[in-house]
Amino acid sequence: MGVNGVTKKDSVGNVVIIGSGPAGLTAAIYTARADLSPIVVEGEPSSTSDQPGGQLMLTTEIENYPGFPAGIMGPELMEAFKSQAVRFGAKIHPGKVTRVDISKQPFKIWVGNDNTASDTPDLLCKALIIASGARSLMLGLENESRLLGHGVSTCATCDGYFFRDLPIAVVGGGDSALEEALFLSKFAESVTIIHRRDQLRASKIMQDRVFSHPKIRVNWNSVIVDILGEEKVTGVKLRDTKTDEEYELKISGLFIAIGHVPNTDLFKNQLDTDEAGYIITDNSSKTSVAGVFACGDVQDHVYRQAITAAGSGCMAGIDTERWLENLTLGIKQS
Ligand code: NAP
Repeated sequence: MGVNGVTKKDSVGNVVIIGSGPAGLTAAIYTARADLSPIVVEGEPSSTSDQPGGQLMLTTEIENYPGFPAGIMGPELMEAFKSQAVRFGAKIHPGKVTRVDISKQPFKIWVGNDNTASDTPDLLCKALIIASGARSLMLGLENESRLLGHGVSTCATCDGYFFRDLPIAVVGGGDSALEEALFLSKFAESVTIIHRRDQLRASKIMQDRVFSHPKIRVNWNSVIVDILGEEKVTGVKLRDTKTDEEYELKISGLFIAIGHVPNTDLFKNQLDTDEAGYIITDNSSKTSVAGVFACGDVQDHVYRQAITAAGSGCMAGIDTERWLENLTLGIKQS
């Protein structure tokens, strides 16, 4: 048996799925139910989460995932996805993919750091589904990770509702920050945009909307030096970059919106990506390499929701099944 008893190192599996968020695990459910025995390489704890399973592991309660009228905790939802995939025969492979070679069939996958330099990959497969997600850029403050899910959030659509009639802040000056601020203004008592410069990066139309909004104001030239609160966020300590003066702002929630990065380093120069590094898919989940599919946030910088990630995971599962079937039948395909 190969690594962790999942497969023989030299046997070629049907499909390997990289990532165990909603996209990867939905692709696993579909390919497992199609009898393709998928292997899900689940990834490793990140700097902001102590378990694999994607960004939902960082969320507390999820209220907008259909089917859960009373809401569900992010980790609980991911555990349910995983059990469902395993029930139909998906194998969960612990560890993080550290190298891939998709230049020819079968595709080669290396897992973990021990073996990366070796010529022998840990897994071989005919089809690959990339569901490695994206990560929010973070400020890097000590209290930011401690208070994540307790007043610090990276998703207004997910968590805004919890801040009804409370003062909150959004950090960032791009379209994401302004979009989040406008969305949050529906619930919050007030929204302060904290921006490190005296000019926003966001598009003019978004700026106009923000400047004319009665509940939103901008704290210019402001850098967050600390996030305050024991059990939950009670405020932030800011530094004015012009005067160096430090002061506190009382808030109940802080939304970090300073950009996202797709987890696509592994595929650099192997797959077509856009300027920001997101994998380009057509209207399906197909990538520029035949037999390689992508789903979830790694190919979507617009919606970034658990439900849209799961939907695109379903598409990748179905596309993979059809592609493998045509491969078996010898039908030429892109
Ligand atoms: P972005 O355009 O890269 O903006 C990031 C913002 O965060 C910038 O204002 C930047 O400040 C600030 N920032 C970065 N690192 C920081 C740090 N360590 N501390 C404090 N502030 C920091 O990212 P984005 O807003 O996520 O947008 C990404 C792309 O998606 C853009 O092309 C955007 O137009 C697009 N988008 C479009 C829409 C829409 O059309 N509705 C919505 C969302 C996003 P500086 O300005 O000083 O660099």
